[in-house]
Amino acid sequence: NKKQFQVDVQLKKIFPDHTDVYHVPHGQSDQDIARHFINEIGTDDPFYIVDVSHYPKQYMKWKCYFPDIQVFYAMKTNDNDFLIKIIERLGGGFDCASINELKTVLALCPDIDCSKRIIYAHPCKPISHIKYFQEKNVQLTVVDNEDELIKLEKHWPNVQILIRLKTKDSKSLISFSDKFGANEHIATRLFQLAKKLNLNIVGCAFHVGTGCYDDNAFQHALQFAQQIFHIAKKYQFHLTILDIGGGFPGFDEDHRPSFSQLAQTIQQSLDEYFPQRENIQIIAEPGRYFAAASMDLVASIIACRSNNKDYLNFSSKEEKENVDKDLIDNIYYINESTYGSLSNILYENTTYSITCLRKEHSQLVEHDETKYKSIVYGPTCDSLDIVSLGVDLPLLNIGDHLLFYHVGAYSSSLSMKFNGFQTTKYYYIWKD
Ligand code: PLP
Repeated sequence: NKKQFQVDVQLKKIFPDHTDVYHVPHGQSDQDIARHFINEIGTDDPFYIVDVSHYPKQYMKWKCYFPDIQVFYAMKTNDNDFLIKIIERLGGGFDCASINELKTVLALCPDIDCSKRIIYAHPCKPISHIKYFQEKNVQLTVVDNEDELIKLEKHWPNVQILIRLKTKDSKSLISFSDKFGANEHIATRLFQLAKKLNLNIVGCAFHVGTGCYDDNAFQHALQFAQQIFHIAKKYQFHLTILDIGGGFPGFDEDHRPSFSQLAQTIQQSLDEYFPQRENIQIIAEPGRYFAAASMDLVASIIACRSNNKDYLNFSSKEEKENVDKDLIDNIYYINESTYGSLSNILYENTTYSITCLRKEHSQLVEHDETKYKSIVYGPTCDSLDIVSLGVDLPLLNIGDHLLFYHVGAYSSSLSMKFNGFQTTKYYYIWKD
């Protein structure tokens, strides 16, 4: 019922210049919502459904578990306008890693105080980017090597510096510590060099890897941070900022440790390693936590290669039951790709949960709920573009849709336009 999806008037008042957000009444399932937009558009273009109400909910949840830890949302995860504006309105800051990420924040939040609410959280910075951040009055960055300190002495001598530490992050979906981070020895040398260069180290930062599956990762990292705070004193640096990075799950279903378990570990470790922390500002750079569950993707079947057409022609139930289902394979081609918003299938080994939305009067599927091993390919000419090998799906037809859940993190931001395919349609909703 179209009338049920009305433009949310409150949000229109808050964000008058922005795309409409449809208010979704209580009780509508994700499938109902997807069907609504499918019927509304009537084309086979893929699209995202963005639940704007997810952002303040996640922010409130964060503040319940971490009342004293300030959010610096990691822009790389998803640069959705609403997400950025809502984080800013609620008092959060941003982790920007490039000129373009900072420009995006500034375009949406022109009055933001960059000196307090932006961290240039990349340990290896191009000089042109350093100049831009400095020009915009950003005052905080991270460093993990001596050459970077020398660069900063020349180009940004008054910046406040956090030492980025290595962590034990091998159990995370993607670990960062091979590429970034100082061990104790390097951190000590950074203090020595910073002293010589008259640079200002004010704290330390770490990241336990994105998609943290290790309950102890934060505990180890915080213990290491305590050591670094201690070493800093030897070189007359008084550290006041502790940045605990990201790594938090975007949704808790089947994710262990869950967000609340991680939060508990972090609080306990803070109490153990930083019992007197009144004068320490603790910040974090969550990305996936805010973005992952905010977006679903609807793609449609644009072609299929069904090896079981014969099967469909069997008329009797017995004939159908006698077929070896494992031998039946259906191949579907959809209009979203691993080069597009589904790239985490390759990078993170993600298996998305998929719901089929079949056309209401599809003759092929009538009364048949049986699921068959199926292959789903993306639309590009590349045979590596495999969305799923061997997923159990009912018989589908061209024009049916697949709904992929929780595609909000590192999806649209990684999407490229290979072969000219790219999902560009967004529908925004606010769940009651
Ligand atoms: N901070 C830094 C420096 C990162 O590199 C990343 C992710 O790549 C994040 C924060 C966000 O991490 P997550 O999405 O796991 O919260």
